[in-house]
Amino acid sequence: MNAARENTIDWTRVRADFPLLTREVHGKPLIYLDSANTGQKPASVIDAVDDFYRRHNANVSRAVHTLGTEATDAYEGARRKLATFFNVRADELVLGSGTTFALNLVAYSWALPRLQPGDSIVLTRMEHHANIVPWQLVAERTGAKIKVAEINDNGELDTEALFALLTPEVKLLSLTHVSNVLGTVNPVREICREARRRGIVTVIDGSQAAPHRSVDITSIGCDFYAFTGHKMCGPTGTGALWARREHLAAMPPFIGGGEMIKEVRFEGTVYNEAPHKFEAGTPNIAGFVGLGASVDYLSALGMMNAGAREQELLRHATEELDKVEGLRIFGRAAEKAAVVSFLVEGAHAHDLATLLDLEGVAIRSGHHCAHPLMHHFGVPATCRASFAFYNTHEEVDAFVVALRKVRKLLA
Ligand code: PMP
Repeated sequence: MNAARENTIDWTRVRADFPLLTREVHGKPLIYLDSANTGQKPASVIDAVDDFYRRHNANVSRAVHTLGTEATDAYEGARRKLATFFNVRADELVLGSGTTFALNLVAYSWALPRLQPGDSIVLTRMEHHANIVPWQLVAERTGAKIKVAEINDNGELDTEALFALLTPEVKLLSLTHVSNVLGTVNPVREICREARRRGIVTVIDGSQAAPHRSVDITSIGCDFYAFTGHKMCGPTGTGALWARREHLAAMPPFIGGGEMIKEVRFEGTVYNEAPHKFEAGTPNIAGFVGLGASVDYLSALGMMNAGAREQELLRHATEELDKVEGLRIFGRAAEKAAVVSFLVEGAHAHDLATLLDLEGVAIRSGHHCAHPLMHHFGVPATCRASFAFYNTHEEVDAFVVALRKVRKLLA
C-alpha cells in the first residue's frame, strides 16, 4: 500500500464526516474500535436516508406516480452504484438484508435442490456462523457431508491442505475473503481458480473485505459473492448476493410474494426475471438509498486510500499491543486486515471489554460468531479491536494506555 497516497488525505477532515465519533461515553471521548462489527456512518449517508423519508418516500415498482418513480429510480440507482463499485453487472446483484440472507439464498436455492448423499461441501476453520449453519441445514436435508480446511499457527489457510480436500465428490466450496476474527486475507482468486478447474462452485463471504479493500468481484472468478452494507458505512439491513447469471437463471425463488412474479394464477405462477425473482416483498428502500450514498462516499475517498490508512493503524496497534506483557494476539497472517484479536493473561475478555467501555473504548469481546475457531485456539472468547480509516493513531495510543490501566485493575 502506498503510504504517500495515504498522506495526501486530510484524515482529520474525513473523521469529521462521522457525527457519532464526536460523542462521549461515560464522560470520556468515544474511541470506537468495533468497526468489524458494524461501521459508523458518514453524514452523507444519514442525510440520504433522511432526505428519502422527508421528500421521496413511496414503494418501489408498484406506483406510477412521481414519488413511486423517484423511489424506484433511487433503489435501482443504488443497485447500479453497487455494481460499478464491485465491477459486476447490476442484473446479477440480488439485494437483500445482508450476508446472512445472501448465503442462505445460495444454500436454499442453489445447494438444496442439487446436493445428494455422497456429495461434500468444503468450508474453512475461520468461517463466521453465517457461513457454517446454512450449509449444516443443507447437509442435514440432503445427506451431503461438510469437510473443513484448517489453518496454520499464524491463522492463515493451509492452501495445499485445502486443495487436497477438493476431491471429486465436493460440489461447493464456501469461504470468507477476510476473517472477522483473525483479519486474515485469503487468496480467494487462487483458491477459486483451483476449485473451478475441478468443477466446484465457489461462494465467497465478502463481509469483512468490502469495507477495507478494493474488491473486484469479476476478477476473483467465484460463482457467488456475498456482502453486507452496514460494515461499509451503509445502513443496517442492506447487502447483496452477486451471482453468475447462469446460476440465477437456474435457481428457483427462495422466498415467494409480491415483486418477484410476472403473473400469479391459482393454477401456477410465472416468476419475474433475476434478480427480482429473489426480491419478494417491499425491500429496505431507504436503506439502499443510504447504501448508495455510502458507495459514493467510499468511491470518493478511494478504497486504496482507506485500506492504506487502516494498514498504518494496524501496524501501529500491533506494535503497541506487542509491548503489553502477557498479551497474546490471535492471527498474524502475512496479509491481514485491520482487526486484532487478543487475550491478556489473567483477564477475562468480557471483563476487559467492560472496563475499557468505562474508559470510552468500544471493543468487542466474545466468540465473534466463530465457535469452531475459538475451539481451535482452546479459548471461549477473545477481545477484538477493529479499526477503520476514521480512527486515529492517537486513539490507538489511548486504547493501549486504557488497556494497561484496566489490566492492572483485574490483576
Ligand atoms: N460473515 C462475516 C465474516 C461477518 O463478519 C459477518 C458479520 N459479523 C457476517 C458474515 C454476517 O453479516 P450480517 O450479520 O450483516 O448478515
